[in-house]
Amino acid sequence: APTETPQVVVDAHGLPYLDARLPVRKRVADLLGRMSLAEKAGQMTQAERGAMTRPGDIAGYALGSLLSGGGSTPTPNTPEAWAKMIDGFQLRTRATRYQIPLIYGVDAVHGHNNLTGATVMPHNIGIGATRDPSLAQQTGAVTAAEVRATGVPWDFAPCLCVSRDERWGRSYESFGEDPALVESMETVIQGLQGRADGRDLKRGDKVLATAKHFVADGGTAYGSSTTGTYTTDQGVTTVTREQLEDVHLAPYREAVDRGVGTVMPSYSSLDIGDGKGAVKMHARGDMIDGVLKDRLGFDGFVISDWNAIDQLPGDYAAHVRTAVGAGLDMMMVPYGYKDFTAALIDEVKAGRIGEDRVDDAVARILTQKFRLGLFEHPYADTGGAAAIGSPAHREVARRAAAESQVLLKNAGGLLPLKKSEKVYVAGSNADDIGNQTGGWTLTWQGASGDTVPGTTVLQGLRRAGGDVTYSKDASAPTGGYDAGVVVVGETPYAEGVGDVGNGHSLSLSAADRAAVDKVCGAMKCAVLIVSGRPQLIGDRLDEIDALVASWLPGTEGEGVADVLYGERPFTGQLPVTWPRSEAQLPVNVGDTSYDPQFPYGWGLTTRTRIPEGGTATLRDLGARAAAAERHGDDRAGRALVTRARLLVQRKAGDHLTQAVSRPFADADHLLLTGRYGKAVEKLAQAYRAA
Ligand code: BGC
Repeated sequence: APTETPQVVVDAHGLPYLDARLPVRKRVADLLGRMSLAEKAGQMTQAERGAMTRPGDIAGYALGSLLSGGGSTPTPNTPEAWAKMIDGFQLRTRATRYQIPLIYGVDAVHGHNNLTGATVMPHNIGIGATRDPSLAQQTGAVTAAEVRATGVPWDFAPCLCVSRDERWGRSYESFGEDPALVESMETVIQGLQGRADGRDLKRGDKVLATAKHFVADGGTAYGSSTTGTYTTDQGVTTVTREQLEDVHLAPYREAVDRGVGTVMPSYSSLDIGDGKGAVKMHARGDMIDGVLKDRLGFDGFVISDWNAIDQLPGDYAAHVRTAVGAGLDMMMVPYGYKDFTAALIDEVKAGRIGEDRVDDAVARILTQKFRLGLFEHPYADTGGAAAIGSPAHREVARRAAAESQVLLKNAGGLLPLKKSEKVYVAGSNADDIGNQTGGWTLTWQGASGDTVPGTTVLQGLRRAGGDVTYSKDASAPTGGYDAGVVVVGETPYAEGVGDVGNGHSLSLSAADRAAVDKVCGAMKCAVLIVSGRPQLIGDRLDEIDALVASWLPGTEGEGVADVLYGERPFTGQLPVTWPRSEAQLPVNVGDTSYDPQFPYGWGLTTRTRIPEGGTATLRDLGARAAAAERHGDDRAGRALVTRARLLVQRKAGDHLTQAVSRPFADADHLLLTGRYGKAVEKLAQAYRAA
């Protein structure tokens, strides 16, 4: 039942929690000490905006948070409408005793992707390909500025999943398969939140971030399920404790160090061979309370995933006991908020949930609300709205799109193209902004077609002043062209909907294959794959002159055009291993048997003249890299490894055997962990085998 009609006391002033000069700790203690059980239960509850048919429930249930799930947007979908909507909800909290502001959350996983006109970044897999931590930070900063300017102080991002099997429909939300790569991209947390101590959160251009989905969401086995139905997403991760630590937990250590404000557990289950079998992460107190909070010292709050507690065993009261007991602080119960608060209150009254656990949860939530400055400024500050989708923001996204392009093959130096050349553009993804932005764009699943303002790859090439002719289905691609650019790949999907086996595969569609064959049969051709994950090319590679993994580059197709025309060099590197066949999956850096089509870390560059050199040069580079490592000179270390990599790539071309691929991929992992000497040794090994 709703809480008692509140007697508003906030205007009485003088209450310590309202005093912004006091330390947050004191404000929290003061406020918590005044709150009733029902008010505490409300703070632990997050409802969906679409469920607010009776906005009076915000005060009635003393709700602590609201969200917009993917695609839950106001009409019209403008910055002003977002701000007005959220302010309207916030106003309802004024009718509660202590006027505790709501914290509103959205999934801005690649820019403010729920807002029409926002700057849409490449999805994380492309960001991982850039290998550029400072750029990752800038994409976070742009995202935060656009999100906060619409009145939203909380972002359910970044996903720290270490994706180990690209048949998973969320692969593109991962920075890559190597935990060291994921860690290096966590600068995005600084971009979103500012400094690790939380003191920037009050700024009008910062938001609270969420590390998700804790833990090992990227390790679920293909086709695994606890319910019998087919799923990789939300499935079961079976690992040893050591693998759990090294592969999946490592990114969370980094996130806690960077002061991430919230963590979201995974829908998936974890089996660590402790005899308990596969246990849902939302029930794993050993991990959430034990590892995350106690061992890693996470002091933010834990938000459940959407309706995830409903998947726990037992009746609803058991769901609530299990989740709260495991260390979850706030529940995303989009349409079930009444049931949740009622059950929570009952369980506490019956002594089955300790009120100290509730106090801990509420204190964690209030701490972040104070840090965000919500008590002082509960309403949207739309001062930054003019920057939404601005040229400066789009420039960051354009650079990210450019740096994310991975040149896998470049026979005869076909790329970069010259603007004087006649270019024939074809393929399903050449002129489709919806496909280019992927899932989590305006709607949860995303959609093909003209969904958001921006530039397609084709438009980017045209704007660059190229001599371009376009035919989507590659009709009559004969005669008079210097080069063909065929852009193929996937259509959008999100979460388990995109799992291979759920109507998806890693093979190009028949239409895409036909377009590639037609164009590549008629002229020199570059094939761009716009997709959330590697696509199987197989022997078709032989007929393709240049191959580019474009990932899901976002709204700025001009960034892709930039590298195609050589305005910027190709510098991207594979964030995941590119397999030869589906039978090979899962395939990851570090595997003992490793014979992919392109190894993790592969990526040709059009930046420099490739240096001369052979084994002797590599020996020299190795010695110097080891010295750089000893002196802690990361810049020099990275440069030396990069030179060694170029030598291997030149010699190997696209004749990649296991003996080359394995050490090549290992070298990239070693580079990311600062072991430059060893990295060059591995590259020398790859060189000899090439
Ligand atoms: C996803 C989360 C997301 C949440 C809220 C869930 O389905 O797993 O990643 O944050 O929805 O939209």
